[in-house]
Amino acid sequence: MEKIVIIGCGAAGMTAAIYAARANLEPLLLSGPLPGGLLTQTSDVENFPGFPDAVNGYELMFKFQQQAERFGTRIESDIVTRCELQPGGPHKLYLESGKEIECKALIIATGASPRWLGLPSEQKFLNRGVSACATCDGAFYRNVPVAVAGGGDSAMEEANFLTHFASEVHLIHRRDEFRASKIMVERAQNNPKIIFHLNAVVNDIYGENDVDGVEIKDVRSGELTRIPCKGFFAALGHVPSTALFKDQLELDEKGYLKLRDKSSMTSMEGVFAAGDCADPTYRQAIHAAGMGCRAAIDAERWLNS
Ligand code: NDP
Repeated sequence: MEKIVIIGCGAAGMTAAIYAARANLEPLLLSGPLPGGLLTQTSDVENFPGFPDAVNGYELMFKFQQQAERFGTRIESDIVTRCELQPGGPHKLYLESGKEIECKALIIATGASPRWLGLPSEQKFLNRGVSACATCDGAFYRNVPVAVAGGGDSAMEEANFLTHFASEVHLIHRRDEFRASKIMVERAQNNPKIIFHLNAVVNDIYGENDVDGVEIKDVRSGELTRIPCKGFFAALGHVPSTALFKDQLELDEKGYLKLRDKSSMTSMEGVFAAGDCADPTYRQAIHAAGMGCRAAIDAERWLNS
């Protein structure tokens, strides 16, 4: 029986592992489908304290991992496919490899996954011209036009990043106001390679075998316009990765894990949560790390009590 298992290897899971390992709880961390978590899909992280000149997302997560392992965290790259949780534990986890694990305390740090528009053409061209990660796929689009949908910080960041490769970047946003921070919007507006299409939604992504362009619809007039491009990037935010727990733990209306007041414990005793899977508000790496710290301390106190 494991004392504590952490599901997820992003900023929240790794920080929980550092704290749990330093408390001699010998944590087992199951890294899940995306080693390093969402931060590995971003380019430069400019707002993580301690890195005045920005830090590469992948590099930052590698440092988190080294720190967690230094204190004895065991990391397994396996995926939880099913779980049986019970108040006070033990909790049973069924892994993709066929392995089964029992633990006294569980920390869920499963993060979030990209939101998609939901168009059939988006599925058709997924990974063949359609992507949710400019950092991963941007370099495939050298000297050709691309499109990005969204009006948050991710959309601004991805659009700017894509201008390193693409001939021009069409930024499509459904409103004429931005959710993104002012500095990010200004940076995109000052970039001559970014063309804004506001009050517009993507109606279709067209092409034969590859993407040839996106069709956008003006939300006020209904007018349709075709924008030729070879790549489409969805930067529409994320949805919490909590489907695994939906029948056993309380979720809010958007699918985020509910936490008890002033604690990181979920609706079930002995099950804790941290990071984007339980954070509908801030969704920042530094906040996820703080939540990971809190979950490990709460779990340690609960195990000792
Ligand atoms: P957000 O939720 O902030 O933004 C999502 C954007 O997508 C919104 O503009 C939203 O439009 C739009 N959108 C959502 N669904 C649809 C849809 N179906 N059709 C059309 N448009 C849609 O997500 P982000 O990923 O941008 O940011 C998440 C968090 O990460 C934020 O807290 C952000 O600050 C942070 N972040 C920070 C960065 C940095 O500082 N370097 C970089 C990237 C992210 P609408 O506005 O109309 O709702």
